[in-house]
Amino acid sequence: MKTKFESYCNKDIAEGCKFCIRGEKLVLFMGGKCSRKCWYCSLSVNRKDTATTYANERPIKTVKDVIEEAHANNAKGAGITGGDPLVYFEKTLCYATALKKEFGEKFHNHIYLPLPLVDEKKLLKLKTCVDEVRFHPTFLAEKNDELKQKEFEKIKMASKIFGVENTGIEVPMIPEKKDELYEFIKNLDGIIGFANLNEFELSETNFKRITEEYALNEDTYTVRDSITVGRQLVRKAINDKLKINVHLCTAKTKDCYQYINRLLMHDILPYGNRTDEGTVVYFAVEYNKPETQIETIKKYTKNFYDDTERKRFLIEMDDVEKLYDKTDLKIARIEEHPTWGNERLEYSLIGE
Ligand code: SF4
Repeated sequence: MKTKFESYCNKDIAEGCKFCIRGEKLVLFMGGKCSRKCWYCSLSVNRKDTATTYANERPIKTVKDVIEEAHANNAKGAGITGGDPLVYFEKTLCYATALKKEFGEKFHNHIYLPLPLVDEKKLLKLKTCVDEVRFHPTFLAEKNDELKQKEFEKIKMASKIFGVENTGIEVPMIPEKKDELYEFIKNLDGIIGFANLNEFELSETNFKRITEEYALNEDTYTVRDSITVGRQLVRKAINDKLKINVHLCTAKTKDCYQYINRLLMHDILPYGNRTDEGTVVYFAVEYNKPETQIETIKKYTKNFYDDTERKRFLIEMDDVEKLYDKTDLKIARIEEHPTWGNERLEYSLIGE
């Protein structure tokens, strides 16, 4: 069945996904180093193999940075990802614990884990600060029956530690892998709570092979048939009355719900105007002679904000016309992202 947010499921979706779709999850990227080298990896060139940690778009060095970004994002949980977070095990524990300490036990942490570095000792430690685990088994990237069985056993062990409903797998929905994937999911029925299938997408690092071997949809970045095949698996799960929640998450779900809702949750500066896409429009008088400019603005309105970091005065939309007509201030209309770095999308001067 189709959900309200352009994805498909047989019954329900994982708890962590509910937070994500509402835009309530901080995306905590521990670093790009990984215990695996999947040919289809979707990391960008900038993120792959980097040792930099990011909380959403913000590069971070300390616990304080993570907490600040989580506050700015009004996050109610975090999705901890990489690379392989276990390559950065101590730092992962430290940040996940700090978030729980700052925001309380209800702050929902979920983690994405390739399986090579997973062992019982690490899982028991993670259990102290992580609510939900999502494994990415190797068999989609590499045929090795012995390894597949070993990883299956590790997932079973994790389920005993985290509980059935808090343990799942998350994989790209690669069309030709559908039978093998369904078999794997079926064997895990009753052992884990969910299987997330992500619509298969093009990225900078898998570009060559995907464009050579797969047809793309009109949007030019999603693989044709990935949704069709994913829906077939959801349907099979319904017909076979599987207990496990099978959820097909589409690129639209990620772009139009998860991402936009996360932007909408993010703090903005005073006198900003949010758009439906999650961006923000400001009307700004950029510093030229700030002491004189501020005196001019004050003659006509009390409603402005001195954005010293970006060297500009932000003014209320209702005052733009008055200031434009009665002063010689240059007023810019700036559309930008509310997140770290405030990436600028549009800039124009009023009246020009
Ligand atoms: S496990 Fe994930 S992050 Fe690591 S190489 Fe594979 S797809 Fe990339």
